[in-house]
Amino acid sequence: MRGDASPEQVNAVESRIKEMGFETALTSGELQTIVAVRGDTKGDGRLDGLGDMAGVESLLRVQKPYKEASREFHPSNTVVDVGGVKIGGNRVVMMVGPCAVESREQLMATADAVKASGFSILRGGAFKPRTSPYSFQGMAIEGLRLLAEAREKTGLKIVTEVMSEADVQDVAAYADILQIGARTMHTFRLLERVAETGKPVLLKRGFHATIKEWLLAAEYILKIGNPNVILCERGIRSFDGEFARNVLDLTAIQIAKKESHLPVIADPSHGTGVREFVVPMARAAIAAGADGLIIESHPNPAEALSDGPQSIPTAEIPDLAKEMQTIAAAVGRTL
Ligand code: PEP
Ligand code: MN
Repeated sequence: MRGDASPEQVNAVESRIKEMGFETALTSGELQTIVAVRGDTKGDGRLDGLGDMAGVESLLRVQKPYKEASREFHPSNTVVDVGGVKIGGNRVVMMVGPCAVESREQLMATADAVKASGFSILRGGAFKPRTSPYSFQGMAIEGLRLLAEAREKTGLKIVTEVMSEADVQDVAAYADILQIGARTMHTFRLLERVAETGKPVLLKRGFHATIKEWLLAAEYILKIGNPNVILCERGIRSFDGEFARNVLDLTAIQIAKKESHLPVIADPSHGTGVREFVVPMARAAIAAGADGLIIESHPNPAEALSDGPQSIPTAEIPDLAKEMQTIAAAVGRTL
């Protein structure tokens, strides 16, 4: 809409779009209001008439395959509000906790350390996607209950993975953010069921997924009408797995932010798989523009039932906080 378009003119455009059977999404900026048309508009000539309506500046067709995820559709940054914790704003949001919930003692010790460092989100897997069916698969519902207990105790928000459609309702009943893992990024029916909960979704990039495929996975969630998607770069598989588990694709952070309006966080734990590389790559990710980090920590990594080699001891969380604060400040952000 033109800068001087009246609210009535904006309303009239919205009504016309709805009459045609589409939904609208409004972005009101300081200089401009954008009325986005949601739905499959390809080849629909009726929309061309919108360009002639009073107050309309121009009619743009979004050419990107990931329409609702694209910057064209929503030029300003999306800020996902997780019960008051804002992801995608100036503050870099830290999500720290164990790879897997293993016991009350382990989880509470970690949650206390996360809280004490001023972080606001606790991570912890209850349903674990393990490469081997013989590995620890997670505590399932009991793990979710412990996460909820940790939230009660500390006020931290909870992020945890949902692996299967069958578990969506259970996980949504306990979690503040539903995590889609790298292995299920392409499980489109799961994405849709998770989207329907309306809860914020942390969408990890598949380790074999292109950035375009990742944004199209986000599109599956947005298309259902859930705008609360947080993208997570967690490393991709390359030819050299000898020294690090994955290649943390730092450029992808900037590409995803350029192509899309969604917040982008990074996971230097799975991105490297090696404890000593986690903090250096966490620094790099914040410097590269990440809106947050998700990091694995365990009171005693040597005894962890999963991902011990990449977990930082909870005793080192205060140092992590200091390090991240320094880098965040250097790029004009808070922690
Ligand atoms: C995790 O966060 O514990 C996890 C399994 O991550 P990813 O899906 O990125 O491997
Ligand atoms: Mn893990």
